[in-house]
Amino acid sequence: MLSLETDVKYIKGVGEARAKLFAKLGITTLRDLITNFPRAYDDRTVIKRIRDLVDGERVCVWATVATVPKYSHIRRGLDLIKVRVVDEINTMNITFFNQSYVKEQLIPGESYIFYGKVTGQPGRPEMTNPVFEREGVETLTGRIVPIYHSTAGLYQNVIRKCVSQGLRECGDRLPNPLPDKVQIENNLAQSRFSYENIHFPKSYEALELARKRLIFEEFFVLSCALSIFRERKGEKKGYPMNPPDLSQFTSRLPYSLTGAQKRAIDDAFSDMSGQRPMSRLIQGDVGSGKTVIAAACCWNAAKNGYQAAFMAPTEILAEQHYATLRDMLEPLGIRTELLVGGQTAKVKRTVLENLKFGLTQVIVGTHALISKDVEYNNLGLVIADEQHRFGVSQRAALTEKGESPHVLVMSATPIPRTLALIVYGDLDVSVIDEMPPGRQKVDTFAVGEGMRNRIYAFMRKQVSQGHQVFVVCPAVEENEEIQDNIKSAKEYAKELSQQIFPDLSVGLVHGKMKPKEKNDVMSRFVSGDINILVATTVIEVGVDVPNATLMVVENGDRFGLSQLHQLRGRVGRGKSKSYCVIFEGAGGDKARERLKVMCSTNDGFKIAEEDLKLRGPGDFFGSRQHGLPEMRIASFATDMDVLVSAREAAEKVLKTDPELSSKENQMLRKSIEKLIRDNEGTLN
Ligand code: ADP
Ligand code: MG
Repeated sequence: MLSLETDVKYIKGVGEARAKLFAKLGITTLRDLITNFPRAYDDRTVIKRIRDLVDGERVCVWATVATVPKYSHIRRGLDLIKVRVVDEINTMNITFFNQSYVKEQLIPGESYIFYGKVTGQPGRPEMTNPVFEREGVETLTGRIVPIYHSTAGLYQNVIRKCVSQGLRECGDRLPNPLPDKVQIENNLAQSRFSYENIHFPKSYEALELARKRLIFEEFFVLSCALSIFRERKGEKKGYPMNPPDLSQFTSRLPYSLTGAQKRAIDDAFSDMSGQRPMSRLIQGDVGSGKTVIAAACCWNAAKNGYQAAFMAPTEILAEQHYATLRDMLEPLGIRTELLVGGQTAKVKRTVLENLKFGLTQVIVGTHALISKDVEYNNLGLVIADEQHRFGVSQRAALTEKGESPHVLVMSATPIPRTLALIVYGDLDVSVIDEMPPGRQKVDTFAVGEGMRNRIYAFMRKQVSQGHQVFVVCPAVEENEEIQDNIKSAKEYAKELSQQIFPDLSVGLVHGKMKPKEKNDVMSRFVSGDINILVATTVIEVGVDVPNATLMVVENGDRFGLSQLHQLRGRVGRGKSKSYCVIFEGAGGDKARERLKVMCSTNDGFKIAEEDLKLRGPGDFFGSRQHGLPEMRIASFATDMDVLVSAREAAEKVLKTDPELSSKENQMLRKSIEKLIRDNEGTLN
């Protein structure tokens, strides 16, 4: 019996050469080999008679070799074997290209099962290069066969054989981090059964049971690891901050805080006053007023003698936040500065020095704030706006800047609760479920091409009333999209400014512009210098131009609902009635149906739910953006229900045995240690 850490090259049938190929797939140990789960399965369970074969299908055929396999050499590098097989009454011709060795394997008069794609005229079926084996063997035919990720020179059949051998050599040492109790309580299949059936399923039912167990197991170990992390973090010493009298801060605001804003600030201040570092997520729809909460927290930190860093996802937004925070904080004697890539070297140097020597109390910037050359004097609070664009690992990098500063993250993306639990498992959550008063509903219309001229007239009307218009396109340049009718921001801006609105000022902003160019355009739009701003989704996040009352979205079918909602949040920020017009674009009835949701509600959470139903949670997080370890079999997108029970089970186990010192938890403990080792820097 081999240990799971044995080098794959020692497994019978692998050897040095194949081990090199396996290494390309990230497989170096026996454990890697058997936990390299199939990416798909080939259903070879159906065995047909020759007369029932249908052109194009992939299927197994039981047949007897009727002729001596005939070899012919066509030219260098190309030879053929032709053979005829028969069942009771019908015949089939089989051709093998460049597999002269089958000549010896196919013995006339003997029966085999062939699996392959059927071609040829009706009644005269043929197969090319089928897989075959003798009757009764049933490893490659007559069953569900695994398909693995592969690499040049490493054939599926070789991988299958190696995995099969690997499973045999593991004996009873298969990975089994689930304590028996957990397995039984959750009705899960046994480890050996699961490993055998995930690779070589006896049936679809068995495969399902195996999958369920392994997904559970993976989430269970992850949940345990995250819990242990949380505990460890809790042991870190934070920076207790005495909450100052909030009225000093609020009395200077041009509005009074909503109840939800007050609650969120209370939550945060109370966290910050404790011994443990705060980890809080503020979740609130676009326009719910999250910035002022951030400002209040920065003020709290500064009042207590600590520095605060406020990180925005884009430079434009960083500058806006900077302006907002400066206006709120400087009158209170708090020195606030900005750090962005677009600044001159000289300015940057000064900003950095002020930060290092503690002259600056609040710094606003992009992820530049977490780059190596930014030194703080005594960083006590870190705020990340629109967290979903940062990812956990960036948050981690920032956390490392200070000893263990308080962390506040703000997000307008409503994340399904189960997902939030695991991704933000270490965060407390405040939800802002109340909009500032007087906020108007943005009237939203989904329209077809037939309405284009009327919409142009409407745009003109808004401008003539002194308002401004956003036009959002899905692409920057024409050639980015091969499909017809996709509006590119560049071309469309030209068209609007030269042909449709030659008398108005039309601006263009997109993600491929230099930060400085972008900023120039944005500030001209903010100041009212530009009437119509053609943009890509760079304006999706946070930009505040209260005078913009109309947003026109081109090719609406190209955007997710949540994304459209974020975009729409750019209008309706001032006193005047605001509108959002979405051109349906291609996509037909289905696209139209989808957009209806946008017209009927302004509630971001409802829209997100709808989006989730229609598109799945894949959109909420890019693959590794969330900073969680890569899963071998479980999916954050589709296995959420299993995640919930795995998490519960994990908590139960840790409650009774927090150190995992009991005998039955030793495998679990090892698995967690391995997970943590393998993900150094990712998890935190
Ligand atoms: P979010 O970041 O949550 O999308 P912002 O912080 O940008 O929202 O706030 C949106 C707008 O609402 C800003 O113009 C802000 O000045 C205003 N605002 C915030 N809180 C209030 C409030 N309590 N009453 C009135 N206006 C508010
Ligand atoms: Mg915001």
